[in-house]
Amino acid sequence: MQSSPGGGVVRKRSPVSRWTLLVCSFILAAALGQMNFTGDQVLRILAKNEKQLSLLRDLEGLKPQKVDFWRGPARPSLPVDMRVPFSELKDIKAYLESHGLAYNIMIKDIQVLLDEEREAMAKSRRLERSTSSFSYSSYHTLEETLGFAPSLLNCPSEKLLSFQIYTWIDNFVTEHSDIVSKLQIGHSFENRSILVLKFSTGGSRRPAIWIDSGIHSREWITHATGIWIARKIVSEYGKDRIVTDVLNAMDVFLEIVSNPDGFAYTHSMNRLWRKNKSSRPGTFCIGVDLNRNWKSGFGGNGSNNNPCSETYHGPSPQSEPEVAAVVDFIMSHGNVKALISIHSYSQMLMYPYGHSLEPVSNQEELYHLAKDAVQALYEVHGIEYIYGSISTTLYVASGITVDWAYDSGIKYSFSFELRDTGRYGFLLPATQIIPTAQETWMAIRTIMEHTLHHPY
Ligand SMILES: [Zn+2]
Repeated sequence: MQSSPGGGVVRKRSPVSRWTLLVCSFILAAALGQMNFTGDQVLRILAKNEKQLSLLRDLEGLKPQKVDFWRGPARPSLPVDMRVPFSELKDIKAYLESHGLAYNIMIKDIQVLLDEEREAMAKSRRLERSTSSFSYSSYHTLEETLGFAPSLLNCPSEKLLSFQIYTWIDNFVTEHSDIVSKLQIGHSFENRSILVLKFSTGGSRRPAIWIDSGIHSREWITHATGIWIARKIVSEYGKDRIVTDVLNAMDVFLEIVSNPDGFAYTHSMNRLWRKNKSSRPGTFCIGVDLNRNWKSGFGGNGSNNNPCSETYHGPSPQSEPEVAAVVDFIMSHGNVKALISIHSYSQMLMYPYGHSLEPVSNQEELYHLAKDAVQALYEVHGIEYIYGSISTTLYVASGITVDWAYDSGIKYSFSFELRDTGRYGFLLPATQIIPTAQETWMAIRTIMEHTLHHPY
């Protein structure tokens, strides 16, 4: 066993050629029946007014399960991005043109980006094997998703084992056991462990900060950012004054993979999957939008009661085990003071409410804190974020995490939409992981500092 500088204890492995890995990764994708998006495009529409926005909303009903909104219709000042399958392009473009809706093509062929992404992953795995260290600038799978397929196809199965997120979590906790521990707070619909990292320097039931990422499984940049931030917290303790002060008084909980089933599915079958993987009698559609399944404003505007919709809220509040686990954990902890929920994309930092236009009681304080956090983020790489309440900045959305947190007494509740603004959308290249994590960290650190200095 050898210890890697970045945080994993991994076994040294014999070299396997680049081509073997690359070819295997493509063969396995095909063998598993991974969805192919050749010719699918992402169109950006700039609606001029409410009427044009509602024409776009109508598309979900007119073309059920055909149009996939990456940025849904919100307000005329915000663009709408939608993925259109190759087979529907002609129809949809004709619809847009007939209603005078101007559009441009943001992504010309989604499969090209997916192939590049897969190739980058295969390349990085090869490097990880040869250096025996986890790469924080790459995307990773959750677990061994390929089952028996590698041995069947004579591909090197061990190439995938050491550099998966759940293995990384175990190695990371082992290496930093003085400050980090792993909690299992429940099981997903498909019975995967729901894991939380706890950063603590002692005490019991200290005031706490909760951070989650990956509730929407296709938002890969959020998991990668969560992993980077875990290491950052550990490496800054004792060095950075704010991190040290925070961890001497508070605990930090970090749920990196909040939707493990969905995330595994984005690797094995459908890279663009958003919901969880729950199924119920009476419908053939799979999955609930885990960011519509919370109690606050459940079932209201900006959520959908059609199980086939991407924003299906589920049969009842907290019906989904992935949501119920977090609710149970935070409620039984009883001392969480800040909650940060990380999504992508759009470059926004927002606070409650999502389900209502009504300002929350400390809205002034949240506004100024968001402003400071966004400024700290900007100073890292010059990336601009917009900020404000969810309902006035983005759109009305009901049953969301941060509204529930706020209504449960967590007055510092924030939600991020990370990079970018649509050039790559959910398919943000891995080369942007580190800069995204670095700037996001500075915003999170700002929120942590404020929470520490404003006890309640
Ligand atoms: Zn999201």
